[in-house]
Amino acid sequence: MCSSDLGRVAPNQESGMDQTLTLHSVALQSQQLRRVRFAILAGGGAHTLLCWIALQLDFFRGGEFLFYSLFAGLWAGHLLFILFMLMGLNRRLAEPSMIMPLMVWSTTGLLITALFVDQVRLCVMLLFFAIVQLGVFQASLRQFMALASYCVLGYAIVLGVICVYWPEAIDARGEWIQWGLFSVMVVAAMLLASEISTIRFQLGRRNQQLAEIVERIHEMAVKDELTGFYRRRHAMELLNNACGQSARGAYQLAVVYLDLDHFKRTNDQYGHRMGDAVLQRFADVARRHLTKQDLAARLGGEEFMLVLPVSDQEEARNLVEGILMSMRSQRFQDAPGLMVTVSGGLAMRADGETPAQLIKRADLALYRAKETGRDKLIIGETE
Ligand code: GH3
Ligand code: MG
Ligand code: MG
Repeated sequence: MCSSDLGRVAPNQESGMDQTLTLHSVALQSQQLRRVRFAILAGGGAHTLLCWIALQLDFFRGGEFLFYSLFAGLWAGHLLFILFMLMGLNRRLAEPSMIMPLMVWSTTGLLITALFVDQVRLCVMLLFFAIVQLGVFQASLRQFMALASYCVLGYAIVLGVICVYWPEAIDARGEWIQWGLFSVMVVAAMLLASEISTIRFQLGRRNQQLAEIVERIHEMAVKDELTGFYRRRHAMELLNNACGQSARGAYQLAVVYLDLDHFKRTNDQYGHRMGDAVLQRFADVARRHLTKQDLAARLGGEEFMLVLPVSDQEEARNLVEGILMSMRSQRFQDAPGLMVTVSGGLAMRADGETPAQLIKRADLALYRAKETGRDKLIIGETE
């Protein structure tokens, strides 16, 4: 539809674009929720199972009470994430996917439990690579680096604490070697993440370029180059939709045919280029009178169609009369003597009327405007 900041406000305020955006964000939210729910259930489940097995094998220092209290706390945190998303509160965040907080929280969970599972500590810490996968397509390289540093340093602190408080429980040298190996693996994973991050960035840029090209091609296909108005074919499709909405009672619909008067003479007297400038001026003038809900099309040559959602015929008539009057008062620097007038035919959609019948009435009204002296708007009668 034609955009303009000026003019009246049409009754139907709900533009198609807004609806699309709403749908898109709903789909995105449910996709994010599904992903987080899966990550928490699968990752948290694996972590719990691993530590539970350690508990059964008597590898969980602190015993059953500590195990159950610890995991009750961890799962409460997990569920809070899901609840937060279910309530839609994440949408207010700068990063609604909450990937980074989720990864930090999960890593913290690993580090806490790593403090108590002496024989399977490395196994527990290896779950960190599953956490990294969670953010591989979303987190930035900087975020990965921060998370990796947190994990490696946290692991070192865990070992330090154990060395101080439970030195007899571990083989310190072996533990530090494992920590060293783990750190090397984390660095390797970060290199991979950086590669993926670069590819993702390039893909994102290509996608954007493609989207821009598709948008440009679409514009070229549906819009007339000279005036920026819709071409006939696309306009007819939009008119069909507008007729459908009007039939459902969304608004009254006016279809207006407009034709520049004696345009051939303008071309003959001032040249084709001046003719083009007149067509462009007409488009600018019309645009100033239209709102976003209105539709303007160039049907060919110097013939135009407006489709106006209005509350009544008077509103449509005033709008078109305004365009006609503005055109009459236009002056052209390169053609001082030139005065351009426009004739119009207006038809209000009647109940049960097809787009073809509506157009025919508007065209007939235009014909009568031409026949009866031009530079006027004629309202088409209902059949
Ligand atoms: P009427 O008042 O009855 O509408 O007369 P008219 O001269 O405006 O109508 P007619 O259909 O006889 O002539 C239309 C002219 O518009 C003929 C054609 O050369 C010119 N025309 C069509 N497309 C373009 C265009 O893109 N640029 C220019 N400059 N002229 C065009
Ligand atoms: Mg004409
Ligand atoms: Mg014509």
